[in-house]
Amino acid sequence: MNQPIRVRFAPSPTGPLHMGGVRTALYNYLFAKKHGGTFILRVEDTDQTRFVPGAEDYIRQSLAWCGIAPDEGDDEGGAYGPYKQSERSALYKREIETLLKNGQAYKAFDTPESMAAKRLEAESAGNVWQYDASTRMDMRNTLSMDPAEIDELEKSGQPYTVRFKMPDAPIEVAVHDEIRGEIHVSTHVLDDKVLMKTDGLPTYHLANVVDDHHMAISHVIRGEEWLPSAPLHVLLYQAFGWECPRFAHLPLILKPTGNGKLSKRDGDKGGFPIFPLAWTDPVSGATSLGYREQGYLPEAFLNMLLLLGWSSGDDEELYSLDQAVAAFDLGRVIKSGARFNPDKARWFNEQYLRTGETSRWIQPLRQAANGQMDEWSETQCQKVLDMFLERVQFLHEIPETTYLFDAPTAFDEKLVRKKWKPETAGYLTELAAVLEGISPFESAVIESEFKAFLERKELGFGAVLLPFRLVLTGTGGGPSMFDFADFLGKEETLRRLQAGVEALS
Ligand code: GLU
Repeated sequence: MNQPIRVRFAPSPTGPLHMGGVRTALYNYLFAKKHGGTFILRVEDTDQTRFVPGAEDYIRQSLAWCGIAPDEGDDEGGAYGPYKQSERSALYKREIETLLKNGQAYKAFDTPESMAAKRLEAESAGNVWQYDASTRMDMRNTLSMDPAEIDELEKSGQPYTVRFKMPDAPIEVAVHDEIRGEIHVSTHVLDDKVLMKTDGLPTYHLANVVDDHHMAISHVIRGEEWLPSAPLHVLLYQAFGWECPRFAHLPLILKPTGNGKLSKRDGDKGGFPIFPLAWTDPVSGATSLGYREQGYLPEAFLNMLLLLGWSSGDDEELYSLDQAVAAFDLGRVIKSGARFNPDKARWFNEQYLRTGETSRWIQPLRQAANGQMDEWSETQCQKVLDMFLERVQFLHEIPETTYLFDAPTAFDEKLVRKKWKPETAGYLTELAAVLEGISPFESAVIESEFKAFLERKELGFGAVLLPFRLVLTGTGGGPSMFDFADFLGKEETLRRLQAGVEALS
């Protein structure tokens, strides 16, 4: 009997979603879709102290922008809700009772001060202290104290935490990871983790394991930073007598230098986003860049993330979401960190701009132009796209090209010095006469007449084409000047030509 594939993305709403989080969501999504499974969004909001208003909404909006919406969640519905941990407290309380009853967990009455003192004492002797099998009998808990004392503390309402009881004699825990294979850890190094805090709320470990079980999660696909917690989680499943889901820990996303984990600071320094959407911190008011606002297409962003930790094994780099679903395989996720390359991110955007029907960019182009292209006909927009899509990485770069809207008022000085000769103005004036007679005023005709003119005059391309470009655009680079003249129309082309000749002669 095959267990249904159910995976979850389980972010904590403690701030905006890092692109590593989006990659985790993406891999979960791909895995679910590939196997006809269910992709669940669970909000892990048990740590009230780290709650950030707006973060949950941000997470949902990010997934929606990327086109990887969950199948199940509080907004989507499902048979396993509620999908927010703060609404599942009763379940955690019930489950912790099971562990207390069967002796796999115990209550600890120690104060933060008394534990700090222990830690300090150990440190001054050059040791590290942790609450574990070797130290717990020196502490104040239901294992070390006599029943009368415990009874008294409980009656007086003394706050306590509930801790997991690691085995007294060390055992070896085996964690099977779909990406990393089998990992063995001795409980000797593991501490008695707090499962429930003094406020009666569960810690991440308890809530995570209880929910994965109760939501019938088949595969836990999450970031590598959770790998050290996996042995505890395996032990918790065993303690509850539950079957353990399969684990897959995804590699870290590294800085562009390859040294260390990619952080918000790297993005600030390098001028690239590390969040899917722009985010304004509700407390400081500081804003962080978002891929969306920087002009990235969601397809390009996702494609970039797909290859940040996974490869199909061949040279293919461009994957639509459907193609990614078909190709994805957890076994081909890399074990080592994946180095982020901001240039490559831009490259993906460029690729997506250039594939498919260019007419689909007419609307987005108008939008990016902030009203400057509203009056333009579709044909004009289309002509601009045909000229510029091959030359930009982002759509917004097109309306940043001022000569699209206005005749140049300044001309590249270096080029003028080098290429504007005493005879140039005369050539351009003669060219104007040629252009005047062209009908229809279309790129191919302009080009052939231009060439014929050069031949008649026995001139090289350089002698006239660059000056022509200068008077039309003020610059030395850009699209074909025949296409551009076509786009401007005869009247405006001649007007610019004449104004340029006057300005430069
Ligand atoms: N809430 C955890 C996080 O934000 C989830 C870890 C997990 O997927 O188990 O990363």
